[in-house]
Amino acid sequence: MASGGDELVFAPLGGVGEIGMNLAIYGLGDARRRQWIAVDLGVSFAGEELPGIDLILPDIRYLVEERRNLLGIVLTHAHEDHFGALIDLWPRLKVPLYGTPFTAALLEAKRLGEPGAPEIPVNVVPLNGRLTLGPFDIEYVSMAHSIPESNGLIIRTRHGTVLHTGDWKIDPTPVIGPPTDERKLRALGNEGCLALIGDSTNAVREGRSPSEADVAKSLAELIKSARGRVAVTTFASNVARIRAVAEAASACDREVVLVGRAMERIAQVARETGYLDGIRDFRSVETYGYLPPNKVVALCTGSQGEPRAALARIAEDDHPEVTFARGDRVIFSSRAIPGNEKAVMRIINGLVGQDIEVITDRTHLVHVSGHPRRAELEDMIGWVRPQVLIPVHGEALHMAEHAALARRAGVGKVVVCRDGDLVRLAPGDPGIIDEVPAGRLYKDGALLVEAEQRTVPDRRRLGFAGIVSVALAVTDKGELVGDPEIELTGIPETDAGGTLIARIAYDAVLEAFESMPRPRRRDPDAVAEAARRAVRAALAAVWRKKPICHVHVLTI
Ligand SMILES: [Zn+2]
Ligand SMILES: [Zn+2]
Repeated sequence: MASGGDELVFAPLGGVGEIGMNLAIYGLGDARRRQWIAVDLGVSFAGEELPGIDLILPDIRYLVEERRNLLGIVLTHAHEDHFGALIDLWPRLKVPLYGTPFTAALLEAKRLGEPGAPEIPVNVVPLNGRLTLGPFDIEYVSMAHSIPESNGLIIRTRHGTVLHTGDWKIDPTPVIGPPTDERKLRALGNEGCLALIGDSTNAVREGRSPSEADVAKSLAELIKSARGRVAVTTFASNVARIRAVAEAASACDREVVLVGRAMERIAQVARETGYLDGIRDFRSVETYGYLPPNKVVALCTGSQGEPRAALARIAEDDHPEVTFARGDRVIFSSRAIPGNEKAVMRIINGLVGQDIEVITDRTHLVHVSGHPRRAELEDMIGWVRPQVLIPVHGEALHMAEHAALARRAGVGKVVVCRDGDLVRLAPGDPGIIDEVPAGRLYKDGALLVEAEQRTVPDRRRLGFAGIVSVALAVTDKGELVGDPEIELTGIPETDAGGTLIARIAYDAVLEAFESMPRPRRRDPDAVAEAARRAVRAALAAVWRKKPICHVHVLTI
């Protein structure tokens, strides 16, 4: 499909084919001269497959190139998968940033919590606000989700109007904030919607998500019926859940103690922005020990099994202030996101092992997802009636299910794309017309590294088979000086017969050296290569693994 003339295009630079690191761009103009807006700039969390890596960020080299044509970044909400890359990446762009009050306040609080983080000015847009960025007219539309102030974006252009849903669900009773703005979305349908770019997270799940209010009711019953201490763990950003726990605690005369920095930060931002109005002040963690067991509810971070978070430390009896004992009740008001299941199970088993009662969403309605299930996706399509639908915010399976559902619901054109695909929305036949550079960056300690670098594969190899370091000195006549030195890291000490592996490596080096013709021995590179091959072969013979081997040859 050829690109040509004045067009409206869309490209995901992250968040498509994976859940996390959301970044979408919309462009207007002809291919040589487009003006862009970006929506969100999020991270993904790295699992065990990326040893030593904390976060995955979208590679924004394309946006850096196009920086002068980038009119701004519009944030939908304050979840890490939508705004978590700003502190690291915004300084490379320095374009105007837009978000609603809670999102702006949480970004600021997060920034202040990270020493050395750059100042990031946010233009605060009121709920339901509207802004103009060059040829883009952008209107915020409130969506219910699992954090305050999730917003869809209605993006009006000369080629038609796009609904970028952001993260949403239909919840008539979301505990805090307005429900999803059905009226505005139906009005958009009447006005005419060219394209819907939508959340696919729960496209494989039938029916509708239960409401936050149902969860609140169930939490209230569980807190009321507890006899000893109660702890509730949830995503700190779920302020509706925090509010529900606080109201439930207050109803049975219990104080709420916040445990964990993220919980304190969110509570403070939620107070400032009015989402905890009418809720009694929380008590600091130092007061925990003075409160009778039946007078306290601890709200803890660590619902995803994070080893340094409050709950993991409590479960290991390693928390300075907070302890739990036989008969106390811990409620997981959360679900482990894929990759975290083992860590969460370890904590659950640790608690159960101490005779602490653990309640999860397997048996009680103590958690709901913030994303739309299939009946909700159908409602949205019915309200907005888009000509084109592009599934995003999902893995391949979620997007395929969302696409199939949209086709069945009568959407004329469905485009399934991948990160870096450039999709023409209008005019003409919508579809993928080109590619733009896209990829991943890893946050490795304080540094950002490109995913293509050898760093992580090398680290994985080290984790699998360790490393052998060999040092030897050779004269300019090709004679060995002294004994080769061998150092092993991450390698078994002996083989099956009890021979030292270091000895096997040592013999291999000597044998390799001595079998080289004398003139070759004067070439340090040739010596190093021969020794390296010999060590790897000798260890493979007894161990069936080939470690990384570094040989340093000194010539004297
Ligand atoms: Zn979200
Ligand atoms: Zn999200």
